[in-house]
Amino acid sequence: MTHVLLLGGTTGASQLAQALHQAGVPAVFSYAGVTQAPLAQPLPVRVGGFGGVPGLVQYLVDHGITHVVDATHPFAAQMSRRACEACAMAGVPLLALERAPWQPGPGDRWIDVPDMAAAAAALPAEATRVFLAVGRKQLQAFAGLGQHHYLLRLVDDPEPGSLPWPDAAVDLEVGRGPFSAEHDLALLRAHRVQWLVAKNAGGEATRGKLDAARALGLPVVMVQRPALPQRARTEDVGAVMRWLRHGVLPSEDVSAGTP
Ligand code: NAP
Repeated sequence: MTHVLLLGGTTGASQLAQALHQAGVPAVFSYAGVTQAPLAQPLPVRVGGFGGVPGLVQYLVDHGITHVVDATHPFAAQMSRRACEACAMAGVPLLALERAPWQPGPGDRWIDVPDMAAAAAALPAEATRVFLAVGRKQLQAFAGLGQHHYLLRLVDDPEPGSLPWPDAAVDLEVGRGPFSAEHDLALLRAHRVQWLVAKNAGGEATRGKLDAARALGLPVVMVQRPALPQRARTEDVGAVMRWLRHGVLPSEDVSAGTP
């Protein structure tokens, strides 16, 4: 009997959880446990790491998991690598539900960089106003750049004293999204943002900031996705459901991730 492990933490994971629930497919939703109040899900939820590859293999066996769907964020690379390895070891099929990366269009001023260190290096040396839309865990890469004024958007309020610069230099928006282009245009204007740093997450929920940056003619430092092992992937919740029912993906969905 089918029993799905859904590795979550994204809008797509929540959409798939809804589809699994509606179809009555037995599944468990897994959160890492990094946010204070994760979204409620219509599936049984477990929270916290598995304890690396051995822990995940054990979990798959103990819970009779027949399919794993990796719907983690494209930058949650450690979890995705471990899921690939554990599924291969346990002989459990794995499918990634992963949105395509954003592509620049006319009017965009993107500077593509491979990682956060390169993103920090791409900012101008002189003081400027930066919307740092990279998540709490990545702020440390910018610790040496105390000359800038930062706007941060975080899911939870940061712990007092946990930000790498003096509070005076930081504006904060706390929220989970989705964020519309209109919202983000007003935000960038209100904070007189001059540079945007973003991770190439893809999807609609957080692309409003890119539309806003384009409208204002702002440069965007775009951090590329981390490399992942080859794995079957799709962007389509319906394709995941067909995979679970029939065991196969349409050929266009069986594509490699970043080698
Ligand atoms: P990560 O660096 O790839 O994962 C770190 C560790 O957290 C993993 O090794 C695993 O621990 C545990 N973990 C991660 N996702 C898990 C899940 N869904 N269920 C159970 N354990 C999980 O991930 P991260 O970048 O810290 O992200 C953590 C979570 O936040 C992910 O689920 C991701 O979808 C979500 N998220 C991340 C970002 C981002 O930019 N990174 C943005 C939005 C949402 P063990 O090795 O012990 O199993």
